[in-house]
Amino acid sequence: MSKYCSFRTGGLAQDFFIPDTLNELSEFLKNNQKPILMLGLGSNLLVRDQGFDGVVIKLKHFDQLDIVDDVVHVGAGTTLAKLSRFCESKKLNGAEFLSAIPGNVGGALAMNAGAFGSEIWHFVESVTTINTSGIVFERNALDFDIDYRQVLNKNLDEYFIGATFKFKQAEKQQNIKALLEKRNESQPIGQANCGSVFKNPKGYFAAKLIEDSDLKGFCIGGACVSEKHANFIINQDNASATDIEKLIFHIQQSVKSKFNIVLETEVRLVGDS
Ligand SMILES: Cc1cc2nc3c(=O)[nH]c(=O)nc-3n(C[C@H](O)[C@H](O)[C@H](O)COP(=O)(O)OP(=O)(O)OC[C@H]3O[C@@H](n4cnc5c(N)ncnc54)[C@H](O)[C@@H]3O)c2cc1C
Repeated sequence: MSKYCSFRTGGLAQDFFIPDTLNELSEFLKNNQKPILMLGLGSNLLVRDQGFDGVVIKLKHFDQLDIVDDVVHVGAGTTLAKLSRFCESKKLNGAEFLSAIPGNVGGALAMNAGAFGSEIWHFVESVTTINTSGIVFERNALDFDIDYRQVLNKNLDEYFIGATFKFKQAEKQQNIKALLEKRNESQPIGQANCGSVFKNPKGYFAAKLIEDSDLKGFCIGGACVSEKHANFIINQDNASATDIEKLIFHIQQSVKSKFNIVLETEVRLVGDS
């Protein structure tokens, strides 16, 4: 999975499936018995070295993008960058922040991804999901418990296959280039990472707690706490997933013993340990 995850490490998946059509996905799910890992761009995933004992599904071809009466219809496999640029070209305001988040629409919905004070679920009109038996549903925000970097579907075993968004038509758009420059100033761009490793605990910044625990630059194996942003772990030198997981644990222990605060991971860990 190292090829498919931005950490550039991780073990093997037993099976890997890229459906061409919704029909193909639905048929596959009807007959599938294995555990499923739905994969977006892999920007928030750490697959353990032992790999994933099931099927990874990538909705690469679910990348349709359309607009009808100012409502944007988009497939779960569309990148956030493409969605953001599309909205910019249609003079729709509010999707600019998405350009700063590496990911697909499906992964961003699953994470309630956000940046610069905006979160993706803010703009959702409806989502289309498919369950593990291959049945398709139209749902809205009320069907989910939506929180900071966390989304629970009240109907379990469903995956996002598409969404409709409503962005405002307004005069003032944020400048995407300026947002990206701002992001590049504070993040270790160009080094393999997964963005923020930990959620910010209420009232605190995870990065500040890690920095104040003197962990900037601290490494285990090939995994290091970024010098540029302490809430980022970088794969500096062929880190294994185990190196990264050990470093995550070490950071959690250090912050807990120094500040008595529990850091919860934002990155999703997958596979048997
Ligand atoms: C440099 C960098 C900067 C980042 N900055 C930000 C930021 O500013 N804000 C932010 O919120 N995040 C940020 N992230 C984290 C990441 O970009 C987001 O969490 C993003 O939404 C992940 O999308 P993805 O498609 O890569 O999902 P993946 O990493 O592939 O998957 C993430 C989770 O979503 C699930 N999932 C994926 N697709 C589906 C689907 N179709 N249906 C159901 N579940 C699905 C996966 O199973 C997994 O549990 C950053 C990451 C990097 C590398």
